[in-house]
Amino acid sequence: MGKEYCTAIVLAGGSGKRMGSEVHKQYLLMGGKPVLYYSLKAFQESDYIDEIILVAGAGEEEYCRERILNPYGITKVSRITAGGAERYHSVWNGLQAAEHEGYVFIHDGARPFVDEDMIGRAYECVLQYKACAAAMPVKDTIKIADENGFVKETPDRNTLWMIQTPQVFEMSLVKEAYSRLMQKEERGVTDDAMVVERMMDAPVKLFPGSYENIKITTPGDLEIGEGILKADCHKPRNKI
Ligand code: C5P
Repeated sequence: MGKEYCTAIVLAGGSGKRMGSEVHKQYLLMGGKPVLYYSLKAFQESDYIDEIILVAGAGEEEYCRERILNPYGITKVSRITAGGAERYHSVWNGLQAAEHEGYVFIHDGARPFVDEDMIGRAYECVLQYKACAAAMPVKDTIKIADENGFVKETPDRNTLWMIQTPQVFEMSLVKEAYSRLMQKEERGVTDDAMVVERMMDAPVKLFPGSYENIKITTPGDLEIGEGILKADCHKPRNKI
């Protein structure tokens, strides 16, 4: 069987409020290159990915083209589409720009350490399960607290996972899930798996991401990212 058509939607439509910076977090430099460059490069060089749709902040399309796509030779980007108010609006815009059936890899542009092995694991997983998300077991004990900061519950740690991206779906499944979501305008949607779980009642399989597959959200994350780059330790030793 030949390879299935795969589109990557890379999200760079966030405002970077938590970074406390004028420049959006995905454009800040890490190792001398914009954070967004690294994930675009991984999908550009991937044997699995046929096309990339970049979701940028409204009015930032030209900036992305001139500062990232052209200088770094990212040629698989077929469309740059504008993001929306919340992450799920940006995903919806990206999905509407996607013209091919097959599979879609939805990825946070603020996660620079996705790599070809992870993309391959995602591809194998989605072929079998139709919906999957990168995840790693939590290392800390997690507690659910009430609004006053008192512990309500301590879930069994063995059942808890940190959810990352890429999150990968059959295109038709996730498009239907998002179109149902947009009709409801539900709040508090923080990832794509949640949309498929809630709107389609479909099972989502977890596959191993990596502990280095961090999201660059705060200035401290940028320093950690620099450290990961220097140590090049985002390769095998942190896989599960
Ligand atoms: O805000 P959060 O940390 O969840 O952002 C995750 C990713 O989603 C980032 O890459 C960010 O650029 C993107 N995003 C977006 N549109 C938004 C909010 C976030 O594309 N409105």
